[in-house]
Amino acid sequence: MSDEHRSRGPSTRAVHAGEKTDPTTGAVSVPIYQTAPFGFATAQALEDAFLRPKGEYIYSRMGNPTVRALEEKVASLEGSENALAAASGMAAISTVMFTLLRPGSKLVAFRDLYGGSSGFFTRILEPWGVEVVWVDVGSEQGDGAVLKEALGSGADLLYLESPTNPTLKVVDIARAVELGHAAGAKIVADSTFATPILQRPLDMGVDVVIHSLTKYLGGHGDTTGGVVTGPAELIAEVRTRLIDLGGIMDPMAAFLLLRGIKTLKVRVERSCENALEIARFLETRPEVRLVNYPGLESNPYHEVATGQMSAYGGMLSFEVDGDLSAAHRVVDTLDLIRIVPSLGSVETTLLLPAVSSHYKFSSSEREAMGVPDGLIRLSVGIEEIEDILADLETGLAAL
Ligand SMILES: *Cc1c(COP(=O)(O)O)cnc(C)c1O
Repeated sequence: MSDEHRSRGPSTRAVHAGEKTDPTTGAVSVPIYQTAPFGFATAQALEDAFLRPKGEYIYSRMGNPTVRALEEKVASLEGSENALAAASGMAAISTVMFTLLRPGSKLVAFRDLYGGSSGFFTRILEPWGVEVVWVDVGSEQGDGAVLKEALGSGADLLYLESPTNPTLKVVDIARAVELGHAAGAKIVADSTFATPILQRPLDMGVDVVIHSLTKYLGGHGDTTGGVVTGPAELIAEVRTRLIDLGGIMDPMAAFLLLRGIKTLKVRVERSCENALEIARFLETRPEVRLVNYPGLESNPYHEVATGQMSAYGGMLSFEVDGDLSAAHRVVDTLDLIRIVPSLGSVETTLLLPAVSSHYKFSSSEREAMGVPDGLIRLSVGIEEIEDILADLETGLAAL
């Protein structure tokens, strides 16, 4: 662990944690250890590595120095004892769930999860024998009665994501932790939308925090990865399961992610500033019915977000005044902002949930979920705000 950085600020950690000057060559960047196995000089060294291991590298599915550097960097940023990198956000999520759940376990999950996660719960965990109970995020703004009822006489795991996709709801994490722990559940939070810069779920009592590194941490839309952070003992268990399941990160991806994370704080801050300006701009436009952004004073989640986040994030969504074809017209008129089914990169991108993440629902089902046909999700990048606003103005003028 890179304990020497723990007292330093997040941007200092993002730059320095996990980095070491290579002792033999003096290389300043962490080398890409592009190797599957590691050889041994003597039979004794081989025997020691297997029988009396002292952290030797043996085989890259079990550990790799480039991947390890990334894990140390993220652990330091998230303020966790340890971290484990995986091939994707979904590899991280599925490996955690297979570590903490068994057939017969009870999982309580907030709705509005990333589609891959909710799909994994219903397609894999339920047939495996896990009881999955769903809770609406909105209902938790009250006294927590709905969550209490879902947890019932006990649960093994409470799973949350905040802010949520694509409606940017905010879960009151401290309350969820309190009620979840009282019911005997471990709390797992997917903090991808917030990043370690804006929100510290471990400090709020969450047991395990997961990120899709593909999004803000990588930050350039060029690499897929995931990470699990939490107490050392738990991470060791998840690591054993990852070695069994095989969804490991490769060294080249780890190198790109190490590089991307160095600028995380400046990127996230710029995205947040831009997103707030865009949200305020959209709120004033007659072509826009609704803007979902917790940074707006008018947003129902503003207070909860202010209490647990240092800024409101780079994601927002808005509903154009019209149907799906109106949304198509706006989107197809844009020039700078491209249509991209991902988020968290340096460039501003958008997605129409009705024809992507939520296409399996009917129009009325989507409406009821707060995902109407005219909803556009924006992932706000770091470009000059004037350029993004000008593009949006051109788009809205198409209505
Ligand atoms: C993208 C995403 C995931 C899945 O990550 P992958 O790296 O694509 O596997 C999980 N959760 C959230 C919130 C995401 O945005």
